[in-house]
Amino acid sequence: MIEFSLLGSGSSGNATIVRGGRSKLLIDNGLSLRQLQLRLTALGESLEGLEGIVITHEHGDHVNGIGTLARRFKVPVYLTAETAARLPEKVGPIPDQIHFEAGDAFSVGEFELQSFSVEHDAADPVSFIVERDGCRLGMATDLGHVTGLVRERLSGSHALVLESNYCPEMIERSSYPIEIVQRIKSKRGHLSNHDMNKLLKHLLHDDLQLVVAIHVSQENNTEAKARAMAMNVMRDHPARLFVAAQDEPTPMFRIEAARAKARVAS
Ligand SMILES: [Zn+2]
Ligand SMILES: [Zn+2]
Repeated sequence: MIEFSLLGSGSSGNATIVRGGRSKLLIDNGLSLRQLQLRLTALGESLEGLEGIVITHEHGDHVNGIGTLARRFKVPVYLTAETAARLPEKVGPIPDQIHFEAGDAFSVGEFELQSFSVEHDAADPVSFIVERDGCRLGMATDLGHVTGLVRERLSGSHALVLESNYCPEMIERSSYPIEIVQRIKSKRGHLSNHDMNKLLKHLLHDDLQLVVAIHVSQENNTEAKARAMAMNVMRDHPARLFVAAQDEPTPMFRIEAARAKARVAS
């Protein structure tokens, strides 16, 4: 069994808590320590026993909170050497770093993580599959387009956490400067609702229990549009669909191996 929650999702800060058995880890932390603790408390969770912080890439919305957290709670940070070298200065020193290479598998507590490269305008961006107890959680965020590797790695996941950043029509009317719009739409930017729809088409299978759309832009997208594009693929597939928000945590999702179905723990 794996349980997880997106504590915050979007360009103002990303963090995902993953727990299972006696293990607990964070994937990215762009939230302040106060926000992180408030949101964990809202889920009946805490930082106690946190075994590691695993980093996808060095953008502030994914790492702004990792320095304080790592130093104060003496938690190791798992990241590639290239990402470590490009962390924003404000993150400060990270005493306990464990470097992996993009494509490596490694374990943190009871979890097995498989990293894989994604295309994004960062030094060495990766995403992860998290496995435990026969459960497979597949995540893909901050990527400009979907490669064969991404599709291959995500296949067979019991839960999929996928970027659905912008609506292609809305971004054409965006108030963002043109360079930023170009960057978002580029092959090293972010996935649109349509990109996510196409990816999901490849990944639907009988044992998929849950789909979470993430990193939804507050300027260039709406929850309803992201949901509609995913539903357009899922139709009558029994998997649950959830759209993660910027300012509040999702419920604590639970995925179980075999025939058990995902449910939202109360
Ligand atoms: Zn991001
Ligand atoms: Zn990014």
